Amino acid sequence: MKSVLIAPRKYIQGRGVLAELGSYLKMLGKKPLVLWDPCVKGIVGETVLQSIKQAGLEVVDVDFQGEATPAERARVTQIARDNGADISVGVGGGKVLDVAKAVAVDAGLKMVTCPTIASNDSPTSAASVWYDAEHNFTGFDCWPFNPDIVMVDTQVVADGPVRAFVAGMGDALATWIEAEAAHKTRAQNIAGGTSTMAAMAIARLCYETLLDHGIEAMRAVQENVVTPAVEKVVEANVLLSGLGFESGGLATAHMIANLLSNVPECKGLMHGEKVGFGIVTQLCLDDEFDTDEMYAVLDFQIAVGLPVTFADLNLEGVGRDRLVPLGDICAGEGSLCHNHPFKITSEAVVDAMIAADALGRHRKELTGIGD
Ligand SMILES: [Zn+2]
Repeated sequence: MKSVLIAPRKYIQGRGVLAELGSYLKMLGKKPLVLWDPCVKGIVGETVLQSIKQAGLEVVDVDFQGEATPAERARVTQIARDNGADISVGVGGGKVLDVAKAVAVDAGLKMVTCPTIASNDSPTSAASVWYDAEHNFTGFDCWPFNPDIVMVDTQVVADGPVRAFVAGMGDALATWIEAEAAHKTRAQNIAGGTSTMAAMAIARLCYETLLDHGIEAMRAVQENVVTPAVEKVVEANVLLSGLGFESGGLATAHMIANLLSNVPECKGLMHGEKVGFGIVTQLCLDDEFDTDEMYAVLDFQIAVGLPVTFADLNLEGVGRDRLVPLGDICAGEGSLCHNHPFKITSEAVVDAMIAADALGRHRKELTGIGD
């Protein structure tokens, strides 16, 4: 048995750091390909292009076509090759970054991710998630290396949607809860080994940072301001969660989130929101998690507006018949649910989802927040 930890080579976070992107890219190459969507380009385009120009680099400017599909991956890779780019830079949300990472691997370029929202923990990871043209989740790839640079401008994040920031907290809140489960079974992580002490400590710090500073950080982002709480939670959402999930391990929370992606009513939900309900399900499945701590996690989720009930998922009144197929996949071969130190059955997962909804409704009544 071996333990493995993987990480990006450099992580840069702070207010206004995107203005320094060019000087960092210069250390990696001469001709960056920048992939972004027109909306993101409208917000940070001038800053990024100016900084690349000042560094004396020539840019290959590419508009993202809207979905992380294999076709988009092939299209951008061809542009990179045709133009002789030597760095692939993704600027924007998770889908843009995932394609930029794949292009770096396919065309043999340096890899740089610049998340403009802190909505999930993929920017630091060596993984890309794929969808089809109809936005259905189709699977993921793990690359042989992580980004050379991850750059997060906290002012850009604070100017962005609060909902995305909160979704990032949902993704990050699951990290320690899942890593702890996977650690008990010595499950193999995405890095290709068991978790190190470092990964577990990072995952725990991520969890504590959110519970301590998450609500204050959300309030600050509602006002588009950068406070120490925002800096801490951005680091938790992007860096700590990224290292923690990849070198720790995943379990039921992410399995539920992945399956909800293909439920029609949940199509409009962000990844971290689906993970939010997955966390509650996992806590209801696990007989070792402390009850008071479980209530604290639920109350935090309710306070920041993460889904904890079927109604929050647009699935109010959902019947057991529609949950059974999800339970069957959870109990099937290759499921992340098997990273728990107890046997998983379809019935147990379905019951946990129903119990999660009931618990979520109960805590909402007690806290007086919500529906
Ligand atoms: Zn995730």
